[in-house]
Amino acid sequence: MTPQTLVYLVGAGPGDPGLLTLAGRDALASAAVVIYDALANPALLAHAPPQTEFIYAGKQSNRHTLSQAQINALLVEKWHQVSASASAHDGQAPRHIVRLKGGDPYVFGRGGEEAQYLFAHNVPFRVIPGITSGIAGPAYAGIPVTHREVTSTLTLVTGHQQEGGVETTGVNFDALAKLDGTLVFYMGVKSMPTIAAKLVAAGLDPGTPAAVIQRATHPSQKTLRTTVGELQAAERTASIAPPAITIIGRVAAMGPELNWFEKRPLFGQTVLVTRTRDQAGELTHALMDLGARVIEAPTIELAPPTDAAALQAAIRRISSMDMAIFTSVNGVGATWNELRRANLDARCFPKKVIAVGPSTRQALSQIGIIADLMPDEFTGDKLAVSVQQRLGDIRNARIILLRAQIARPALSQALSQAGAIVEDVAIYQTLRPAQLPPAAIAALDAGEITLATFTSASTANNLYAMLPTELRSKIRSISKLSIGPITSDALRTLGWGEHLIEAAQHDIPGMIKALSEAALPDCA
Ligand code: SAH
Repeated sequence: MTPQTLVYLVGAGPGDPGLLTLAGRDALASAAVVIYDALANPALLAHAPPQTEFIYAGKQSNRHTLSQAQINALLVEKWHQVSASASAHDGQAPRHIVRLKGGDPYVFGRGGEEAQYLFAHNVPFRVIPGITSGIAGPAYAGIPVTHREVTSTLTLVTGHQQEGGVETTGVNFDALAKLDGTLVFYMGVKSMPTIAAKLVAAGLDPGTPAAVIQRATHPSQKTLRTTVGELQAAERTASIAPPAITIIGRVAAMGPELNWFEKRPLFGQTVLVTRTRDQAGELTHALMDLGARVIEAPTIELAPPTDAAALQAAIRRISSMDMAIFTSVNGVGATWNELRRANLDARCFPKKVIAVGPSTRQALSQIGIIADLMPDEFTGDKLAVSVQQRLGDIRNARIILLRAQIARPALSQALSQAGAIVEDVAIYQTLRPAQLPPAAIAALDAGEITLATFTSASTANNLYAMLPTELRSKIRSISKLSIGPITSDALRTLGWGEHLIEAAQHDIPGMIKALSEAALPDCA
């Protein structure tokens, strides 16, 4: 049997991009086309290969981008297209169509209809279940949907509102009211007063606990704790916007002590991360783990140095040196790329390799080089002293510095004064990108950003230059996290010296440590 193109109906989970299954991730990695819904987190699209075609089929109440019939037809059409091109490229692993749906495809997701349509049109398909919002949402609000001795049934109900009232077809409110279990209502925030009234009329105790969870598992999750009796009044849920899940039953009272998600230290904070796109990962991850919503605003782009010929010549001379000094992860990455481009490898490194800072040392170890020395002092002149103290006399030693084009001269001067023959090579340059991402501008403008992070003086200077004048004052009034004194000085010079938190250890873990020790204004 030759492998064939398939349609995968994939559950995207409730929103938190970590709540996708491994099978779902694999399907995305094999996608030629992804057709995704409004409730599927677009961050998941990053799992698909770069050439993938992305089609938004988002349905939002009252506004259908594509009708269900159009989506069905599109799945079949794309399958034919991709299978035809797959047979043209015989021998290659087939690529697939991924239909990415919020939560689980078969829980109020119309996945069943899509599967039936595919079957009827002879299109082979697979279903990859997802974590449904009605179970994950409560878990992220501290509510176990079943709990021994509290509830023995769990019922998932649609609260979908049709024109003119609640769609009651198939929903037996009398029976629901008598279950004495957990009821989970999807959709229908607007029809909640009607639903609650029907349940109370059917005999459910108005004091029965209820919880409404908006944008569950997202950094902006909001939980309203109430009772069924109170839900009958429309004002009670007036502040809730879809998507939201409503839990009714005794478990809904359990939340507060189990609410780990909303209790994380940075929950409610929106952080602007200004590093380069490549480097933002580690900081972004750590901040998200602490509960923050993160918006990346790359203010630095890495590019080859202006003098490419000088660089190539220097790369070929590395092996004739006595010592190489790296002062950044970028320097290590750029050197490695250049070596590889010249068809050279780690055997070219000089006998002694020095890494400034733990991240640089880590980057070196990833290419198989264990640094001989990692000085405690990061600034130029102190570093030179430290090199001499630890490695002895450096007179006449040939030292190559592989650094940014704009690197400060202090280090090479100090080494030269100690008698070394220093070659300071610009291995990369940093540029200011043309503009900030629209999402970052919008969040700043709306006053949503509560903290901005700065990992170098350039991130501060570039952000200032890239911001429209009227938004610069927004940065002044929010908290700022700086990696160290040079960056803090740059911030002060820009008039951004207030609400400044400075890391005592000048790297990403140090920044996270400083943040967890600082008292941030409560935004939740
Ligand atoms: N198949 C999806 C449900 C689709 S119906 C699933 O299994 O989760 C759409 C409804 O799902 C929304 O109206 C809302 O009630 C619920 N929902 C989906 N994602 C949600 C989220 N992150 N937070 C709260 N409710 C959500």
